[in-house]
Amino acid sequence: MKKTLITGAAGFLGSHLCDRFIAEGHHVIGMDNLITGDLKNIAHLFPLENFEFHHHDVSTFVHLEGDLDYILHFASPASPIDYLKIPIETLKVGSLGTLNLLGLAKEKGATILVASTSEVYGDPLVHPQNEEYFGNVSPIGPRGVYDEAKRFMESITMAYHRHHGLDTRIVRIFNTYGSRMRLNDGRVVPAFMGQALRGEDLTVFGDGSQTRSFTYIDDQVEGIYRLLMSNYVEPVNIGNPDETTIKEFAEEIINLTGTDQKIIYKPLPQDDPLQRQPDISRAKEVLGWEPKVHRSEGLKKVFEYFKSLSTEELQKKEHRIF
Ligand code: UDP
Repeated sequence: MKKTLITGAAGFLGSHLCDRFIAEGHHVIGMDNLITGDLKNIAHLFPLENFEFHHHDVSTFVHLEGDLDYILHFASPASPIDYLKIPIETLKVGSLGTLNLLGLAKEKGATILVASTSEVYGDPLVHPQNEEYFGNVSPIGPRGVYDEAKRFMESITMAYHRHHGLDTRIVRIFNTYGSRMRLNDGRVVPAFMGQALRGEDLTVFGDGSQTRSFTYIDDQVEGIYRLLMSNYVEPVNIGNPDETTIKEFAEEIINLTGTDQKIIYKPLPQDDPLQRQPDISRAKEVLGWEPKVHRSEGLKKVFEYFKSLSTEELQKKEHRIF
């Protein structure tokens, strides 16, 4: 049985990855410090024999007994509001956390996949973004703590590959949505859906002309799984190229949810990228991967999920960071 460590296991992406690797017959070790993750995302896995959970901060030394085949490093705050609240932790988990996990992979002879991001392209001057583009990132802006930690993550991962011959993978994840996102994490999908469900106006930042391209969680997990199982070492974009402006997106959510609220405009946060769309030629060619779930279909499923949450959960507006 393959043994797989997933960091950030109690988070949105991490918990869905735990499900996938359990379904693939792996023994999964989930690790999380629960600073933004929530145990309820993986509570259903606790009774399983091939799942174990370690409450640990990977920014400090990581020790595991026994063999290990794969590591997926997905521990990190992932919303702009989180980086503002916990900037140092964000920097540490992307840098020191990655260093510790590369060390563990080397020690165990494991293959490691690290979760990078479209944020390495910053506010991109090239559109759509392919993996050759070096990006346009402000190191000192509010997003710099995330973007630069992830750029360092890529850099040190390639160094371990080149210098130590470590088997590595780098996925560049574009905006992804699905069940288990924190309703109050500030990201646009839970923000708009939460507002619609509470009967509040939808807050579009700026004039809403900035673009994003949203990927459904099942497509994202499939891309990540295929990349890990490939032998491709260079970064690969995984995202849905179906691009929309945030204003159009807000209108889409209004139609989907049937809310009678309207759009209101708020100031655009500093360094908010004006456009973002993945070029997925590489993923198509190397992994035979492309997204399958259309946004209208994916959003319907996520709305059902948010609707199923308790009223108490729905009203919990303050941002939960321990
Ligand atoms: N956004 C918005 N209203 C909100 C939350 C986000 O208009 O209540 C915008 C945000 O300014 C950005 C886009 O939606 O342009 C996506 O934001 P998110 O935080 O989800 O992810 P990002 O891609 O910016 O990291």
